[in-house]
Amino acid sequence: MAISWDRSAQLQARAEQFLPGGVDSPVRAFRAVGGHPPFVAQAEGAYLLDADGNRYVDLFGSWGPMLLGHAYPPVVQAIREAAGRSPSFGASTAAEADLAELVQRCYPSIQKMRFVSSGTEACMSAIRLARGFTGRPFLIKFEGCYHGHADALLVKAGSGVATFGLPGSAGVPEQTVMHTLALPYNDLPAVEAAFALHPEQIAAVILEPVVGNAGVIPPQPGYLAGLRQLTRQHGALLIFDEVMVGFRLAAGGAQELYAAELGGPPDLTTLGKIVGGGLPVGVLGGRAEIMDFLAPQGPVYQAGTLSGNPLAMAAGIAMLSALLHAGNQLYQQLDNTTAAIQNGVALLAADHGIALTSNRVGSMFTWFFTPNPVQDFASASMSDTAAFARFHRAMLKHGVWLPPSQYEAAFVSAAHGDREVDLILQAARAALRAVVS
Ligand SMILES: *Cc1c(COP(=O)(O)O)cnc(C)c1O
Repeated sequence: MAISWDRSAQLQARAEQFLPGGVDSPVRAFRAVGGHPPFVAQAEGAYLLDADGNRYVDLFGSWGPMLLGHAYPPVVQAIREAAGRSPSFGASTAAEADLAELVQRCYPSIQKMRFVSSGTEACMSAIRLARGFTGRPFLIKFEGCYHGHADALLVKAGSGVATFGLPGSAGVPEQTVMHTLALPYNDLPAVEAAFALHPEQIAAVILEPVVGNAGVIPPQPGYLAGLRQLTRQHGALLIFDEVMVGFRLAAGGAQELYAAELGGPPDLTTLGKIVGGGLPVGVLGGRAEIMDFLAPQGPVYQAGTLSGNPLAMAAGIAMLSALLHAGNQLYQQLDNTTAAIQNGVALLAADHGIALTSNRVGSMFTWFFTPNPVQDFASASMSDTAAFARFHRAMLKHGVWLPPSQYEAAFVSAAHGDREVDLILQAARAALRAVVS
């Protein structure tokens, strides 16, 4: 297939005159996989169209939000209507409680919530709230988990930070992260030891209940329940960062998917991505007595000029209404489609003698280029990232756009069907040859 990226290369050069690296978020620059990132002109359903007129099956879904496919008509319609009433008021609207009610229907553990404009803000504010509520300074997070780019959370943070091999970030003073304890994922004894070392000092444990930002890593049986039990025992809050997995693994996210084995919901939950239907929204929510610590009700300050933005609320309402309406059938379909892609490529890889470990939970998955099981960040880091880069470039050339890093999850949408599965497997057959050669 002859493919040209001339126009995208020009646009990249122009962007680099004004934007560091030509981007507004680092992984978009394709540094980990090489080549020019295609500039997107438009998208519909399962497809992206770039500035050179190339079409791709999209397997990164705007990094998660596009659960129902691009330009999903009810969401687009809702945004159009809201825009006509003016994009922002900075005053309360009925839509905020409307969306809140839908969020709560999906997430019964969220008794009260606050809307913000990004997952970063949701997690940053959750930490402040947990510290304010408990009066304790320390925080436990896990290696390879990404909770946005707030200073205190940029420690062994997965995602782009892992992609660029950074231990954290320049510009974050040691004093800012000295109360952040970064422990290996899926390792309960490490958490027990931290609680023993800092008695009554740990405010919260925050985690991705299914990791997506080191590539997909599922929790081992008993792990989430163990964290629920340890936090309860030590008076610390358990925070599920469901910014990526919320509404994706089930309408009620990871806490619904793992409800039977969890032993109780988390105290706080953060959401983002899907809840905004593609517009900037984050949610911080949980037990009412904790949430009421937020200003103006309580002493923990948190605010936002564009929080609860009417366009974003409208998009979120359309999105959650659609997925609630579709119900379990939606998640069954996503599961089937994603399994076909994951398993199809795993079989092709085996045919080519390539060792792949493919991790999947529902409609998110990662093909790790390693023969060994991946259950934490250390094992994910054993992947052959050069092989992944060759695979990524070849897939792109054959019309399939994967997330441009080994340490990111791929996402499937409801707009992906048999046709797209076929296109992906055809592309993979060719791309895997590029990996071995
Ligand atoms: C994407 C993500 C965030 C950050 O959300 P932004 O909207 O990019 O700020 C936080 N936590 C998790 C688990 C995420 O996947």
